[in-house]
Amino acid sequence: MQVYKLRINRNLCTGCNVCVVSCPINFNQLKTKGELTDKNAVILVRNGVAFPVYEDERKINCDGCGVCLKECPQNAIKLEIIEVE
Ligand code: SF4
Ligand code: SF4
Repeated sequence: MQVYKLRINRNLCTGCNVCVVSCPINFNQLKTKGELTDKNAVILVRNGVAFPVYEDERKINCDGCGVCLKECPQNAIKLEIIEVE
């Protein structure tokens, strides 16, 4: 099975939150759950830096749509396709 893994360049990220609010999955979670947490979000900002949210390599929620990559003003996000069993 292929999953999409986010790579965020911490040296470029300014913590602006644009990726968090532009991610369609985050948006749907916010609409249905009323908040974004490290249990339901795909990407969040903490301590001024964005980070991908997942429990382990089998539970990556990102669907690889690429919206956050296009929206990031710092070009700090890359997507990697990884194989998991
Ligand atoms: S949009 Fe880019 S610069 Fe802004 S928080 Fe996300 S990764 Fe960092
Ligand atoms: S690639 Fe799409 S689903 Fe994945 S974090 Fe970015 S905006 Fe969200």
